[in-house]
Amino acid sequence: MRIVLLGPPGAGKGTQAKLICETYNIPHISTGDLFRENMNNDTPLGKKAKDFMAKGLLVPDDLVVDMVEDRLTHDDVVSAGYGFLLDGFPRTVFQAEALDGISKKRNLELDFAINLEVPLDVLVERISGRRICPSCQATYHVIFNPPKVEGVCDFDSASLYQREDDKVETVKKRIQVYQEQTEPLIAFYKEKQKIVDINGLQNMNDVFEDIKRVLDGVNII
Ligand SMILES: [Zn+2]
Repeated sequence: MRIVLLGPPGAGKGTQAKLICETYNIPHISTGDLFRENMNNDTPLGKKAKDFMAKGLLVPDDLVVDMVEDRLTHDDVVSAGYGFLLDGFPRTVFQAEALDGISKKRNLELDFAINLEVPLDVLVERISGRRICPSCQATYHVIFNPPKVEGVCDFDSASLYQREDDKVETVKKRIQVYQEQTEPLIAFYKEKQKIVDINGLQNMNDVFEDIKRVLDGVNII
């Protein structure tokens, strides 16, 4: 099973990625982890990435692509029948085309590009309502999962805070960037007939049931 998972911030991608990978026994490959692994292990690709970051530059697309291609040769991918789930990659059409090239070269054709759909206003509400405990890292949501006492952790009474990334204006910007980059990506996979739109507005179990029906080859009516 070879999957690309697409979805805006706050769509519940992390949760679904975990459920898919556990159920279908495939490695979860996220670009965040790839960067960390390469840099922590001081691989040649990790060193290159560090050079760019030390200069305050963005890591270029082709270096990210090289990291992904390298990752697709690891044992866990091979032992999963050359299966994987990519999360956070591709992010741009350039990356999608590069992945297409890798897939052809290595005989790793994608099965599905799963697109978790959640309306914009819901995303903003979901993300901007998050609160975190600075001492035990417990997470809350002001509407969906509030602490017993407003603004205070249930476990250790520490004052909850909101991450900079989760503030309304920042969230709107993150979503806008995602939309600008990803709309063309969705069109790209639509043309290749790989895209599967999943209603991300349901609870996480129902979202996963819909995904499973697709992956198991059962038609959604
Ligand atoms: Zn706490």
